[in-house]
Amino acid sequence: MKRIAVLGSTGSIGTSALKVIGKHPECFSIAALSGYSNVRLLSRQARSFRPKLVCSGKDNAGLRRICYDRNVDHVLIAISGSAALEPLLWAIDAGKEVSLANKESLVMAGPVVMARAAAKGVKIIPIDSEQSAIWQCMHNEQPRGLRRIYLTASGGPFRGMTGRELQKISLADALRHPRWKMGRKITIDSATLMNKGFEVIEAIHLFGLSPEQVEVLVHPESIVHSMVEFIDGSVIAQLSVTDMRIPIQYALSYPRRLNSSLPSVDFVKTGALNFESPDTDTFPCLALALGAARTGGTMPAVLNAANDVAVEAFCQRRISFTGIPDMIERVMRKHRVKKQAGLDDIWRADAWARKEAVQTLGKVK
Ligand code: NDP
Ligand code: MG
Repeated sequence: MKRIAVLGSTGSIGTSALKVIGKHPECFSIAALSGYSNVRLLSRQARSFRPKLVCSGKDNAGLRRICYDRNVDHVLIAISGSAALEPLLWAIDAGKEVSLANKESLVMAGPVVMARAAAKGVKIIPIDSEQSAIWQCMHNEQPRGLRRIYLTASGGPFRGMTGRELQKISLADALRHPRWKMGRKITIDSATLMNKGFEVIEAIHLFGLSPEQVEVLVHPESIVHSMVEFIDGSVIAQLSVTDMRIPIQYALSYPRRLNSSLPSVDFVKTGALNFESPDTDTFPCLALALGAARTGGTMPAVLNAANDVAVEAFCQRRISFTGIPDMIERVMRKHRVKKQAGLDDIWRADAWARKEAVQTLGKVK
């Protein structure tokens, strides 16, 4: 029996994780839950799963306590944004098995997180569907045998639009994602393609790759969740229906597989699987993220923080959809990168970028 702490249990990934856990009471139990603002849902979850520990709101002491609790075997991190970084590091320091949905933490501090996990012998099992696909394709393979990975992207709801059309995108348009139902911030990130940029950085750290080894492919059907190419030219892909319960379940059951009642891929009905290159001229967020990945040091943290402020400003209708990359680029251009960045440098860069981004508000349309 694996005793699991679900951090961010009231969110989109968190509620899906509870569904998976509830389906396999013979394998998993809930040791702890955490939410933030949705206290009503959190108490409903607590009544149903009866965990020993529950915390909500700005309660770092509570989250820390959960991560270190000796009745917790596995910490699933589904908190959104930079608030996940500290709990992730606590879970690693406590030597727990970790499954990670949050991507902002790896974007901000990938080298720090991976070095600590290696020092502690902690496995970080990815939940993000693309990273889970790569993780599954790399099974029993030598890292030396890997040539590159193909990260697939649905292309978001605005694939094929021109820059001019994008200027008129409303908040409601951006919140309508064609394939996945997710939290608000990641839905906007998917529409700008920043989400894919974050995933490139995430993959670089999780799998020890160079930025040149990661290629983004737009794949509108979202059936192939990513692919790995080996040095002999063989490519292995992972395919499934689009449902986050598949990668969540695998992260919890790894290295075993458990039954799921989700449908199989219907290849005949799906028909052709299409692939195309992403349009980074029209969707500059992806190019900005690739640039930050190549620069490294504190730059990805600046990218993440400026994006946070820009997405929030778009949600408050203070800037347009195309103002998002504009704001991020202005902040990145001003940043003096620290290459060998420790945790303090990262938090300092994060705070600097948030302040700097707010100051661009009057200049960005
Ligand atoms: P949601 O916004 O739906 O959920 C976020 C969760 O984090 C909620 O439980 C929320 O609590 C909690 N939370 C928010 N702010 C804080 C904070 N400051 N401190 C502690 N807890 C907080 O997001 P998603 O579930 O969509 O995404 C979660 C993470 O997983 C993100 O990093 C996202 O990028 C990643 N991810 C999501 C995917 C998806 O399909 N949704 C796919 C791949 C990755 P409350 O609701 O109670 O306020
Ligand atoms: Mg993803």
